[in-house]
Amino acid sequence: MDGPVISIQGLTKRYGEVTAVRDLDLEVRRGEVYGLLGPNGAGKTTTILTLLGLCEPTAGSVRVLGLDPAREAVAVKRQVGYVPDSVGFYPTLTGRENLRYTARLNGIRSAEDRIADALEQVGLADAADTRAGAYSRGMVQRLGIADALVKRPSVMILDEPTIAIDPEGVQRVLALIRTLRAEHGMTILLSSHLLHQVQEVCDRVGIFVRGRLVADGSVEELSRRLSGGRTVVEVG
Ligand code: ATP
Repeated sequence: MDGPVISIQGLTKRYGEVTAVRDLDLEVRRGEVYGLLGPNGAGKTTTILTLLGLCEPTAGSVRVLGLDPAREAVAVKRQVGYVPDSVGFYPTLTGRENLRYTARLNGIRSAEDRIADALEQVGLADAADTRAGAYSRGMVQRLGIADALVKRPSVMILDEPTIAIDPEGVQRVLALIRTLRAEHGMTILLSSHLLHQVQEVCDRVGIFVRGRLVADGSVEELSRRLSGGRTVVEVG
């Protein structure tokens, strides 16, 4: 496919009186890691949900791998790995059993090798047969990423992948994002409210404030403009 992997043009989303996203234009190119940066309520999750076909735009158009998610949500789901901001698994099932279960739900047959690969990729091979209820928050997050990797997507969308994880867990997730891009050529869109984390892994960043994209560019460009700031709330 030529052209951007993700393309958003003039996207507006209103929930009643609230305008969550206003006239957003954004492109994510093949093989890049793009960060949606903004405080709580800025419109990041709403933007992500429209890319997955889980939320219908009020106006504008959205394409993922050339597909219109509002009409072709099943095809998008098949090709795009999505990790929500609060990942949930069955605590009495092991990590491997949880992945088996979702693989079956996604219609992936003969998933054992894929599951083993995904667990290895996220550094959970040793904990694969431990109950998910005994995992730390960071391990659960990495299991969420493994779950998305089982379908071997070319695009990953991660909503606040480091939220509520301990510092070591954060570093493991960030390292994993770098590896997915560098070794698997994945295109990755992630949201965060922390500038320094986005700076560590993203090629380009879009800064959201109250539903508007107020700046976007390479990490170097934005770092220069926001020098000294750690979060967009502080630099506001
Ligand atoms: P957070 O990290 O807190 O989820 P966000 O940047 O992802 O923040 P959104 O969740 O997209 O932001 O929310 C943007 C705005 O839209 C907020 O004012 C939120 O209250 C509102 N909103 C989101 N979903 C709904 C909904 N289903 N119904 C009504 N308002 C909503």
